[in-house]
Amino acid sequence: MATAQVIDGKAYADKVRAEVARAVAELKAKHGLTPGLAVVVVGEDPASAVYVRHKGVQALEVGMHSVTHRLPAETPEAELLALVRQLNADPAIHGILVQMPLPKPLDADRVIAEIDPRKDVDGLTLVNAGRLASGLAGLFPCTPVGCLTLLKDLLGDLTGKRAVVVGRSNLMGKPMAALLTAADCTVTLAHSRTRDLAGVCLEAEILVVAVGRPELVKGDWIKPGAVVIDVGINRVPSKDPQKAAEGKTRLVGDVAYGEALEIASAITPVPGGVGPMTIAFLLKNTLKACEAIEGV
Ligand code: NAP
Repeated sequence: MATAQVIDGKAYADKVRAEVARAVAELKAKHGLTPGLAVVVVGEDPASAVYVRHKGVQALEVGMHSVTHRLPAETPEAELLALVRQLNADPAIHGILVQMPLPKPLDADRVIAEIDPRKDVDGLTLVNAGRLASGLAGLFPCTPVGCLTLLKDLLGDLTGKRAVVVGRSNLMGKPMAALLTAADCTVTLAHSRTRDLAGVCLEAEILVVAVGRPELVKGDWIKPGAVVIDVGINRVPSKDPQKAAEGKTRLVGDVAYGEALEIASAITPVPGGVGPMTIAFLLKNTLKACEAIEGV
C-alpha cells in the first residue's frame, strides 16, 4: 500500500516565520518601521491562554512589537470597545486580534465590527469577509490562508482542481472555500446538512476538513491520491485504558489518519500539521497590514 507524504506543519511554520523575520528586519533597516501586534484577551479560557502566550512570544521572536491586553471576564462591553478604538488609533499597532470566544454576555459581532479593517489580522470584519467573497485583496483568516499557501507550495498551480471543504464556519470553512475559488479550483462547500458526505468527499482532489468531530472522515471517503488537509483539533481519551481512566487524553483530527495515510498522496497530521501554521500566518498578516498602513 502507498503511504502518503506527511506534511510537517511545524517545519513549514518555521520557514514562514523566518521569511517574516527577514522582511521585518528589512522594514526596520529601510524605513525605520516595526510592525506591532496587539492581542486582547477577555477572561481566562485555558486553551486560549497557551495560544495567546505563543502569539506574543513569536511576534517578539520575529522582531515585532507585541502587546497583550488581559481584561477580566466581567469587563463591560463599552470598555472593551473603547480599548479596540484606542488600538485602532495607536500608530505603533498594525494588527489587532481579539481572542475568541468572548465570555458572555459580550457580543463578538459588535466587538469585531469595531476593529479597523486595515488592522484586522484575523480577517473577521465584514469588510475583509466581503473583500474575500468579492475576489479583492484584504486581510483574510490565518488558518485558511496558511492551508492555501501550503497547497500551492505542494501542488503548484491549483487551476481546475476539484476541492471539497467540509465545515462552513466564518473562521475556517467559508474563507477556505473562497480562497480555493480564487485559486481557480472547482469548490464544493459541505456541512452538517450535506447529503452523502462520503460521496462528496470522494470527488475531491483536495479535501480540507474543518469540522471538530474526531475522525469523521474515513479512509474510504478519500479519493486515491488526494491531498488531505485536516484542520480539526479534538481531544479524546487516551488509547491506553489505564491512562484513559486517569483522565489522560490525546489529540486527533477530523480525519481517520491511519486509514487516510494509505490512500491520500499527502496529509497534514494532528498534532503537528495545520495547528502550528496559524500563528506563523498571523505574523505574516501583521507584516502585510503594517506595509499597507505605512504605504511601503
Ligand atoms: P465550527 O465553527 O464549530 O464549525 C464546524 C462546521 O462543521 C460547521 O459548519 C458544521 O456544519 C460542520 N459540521 C459539524 N458536524 C458535521 C458533520 N457531522 N458533517 C459535516 N459537517 C459537520 O468549527 P471551526 O471553528 O470551523 O473549527 C473546526 C475544527 O477546526 C475544530 O476542531 C477547531 O478546533 C479546528 N481549528 C483549528 C485551527 C488551527 O489549527 N489553528 C483553526 C481553526 C479551527 P453546520 O454549519 O451545518 O453546523
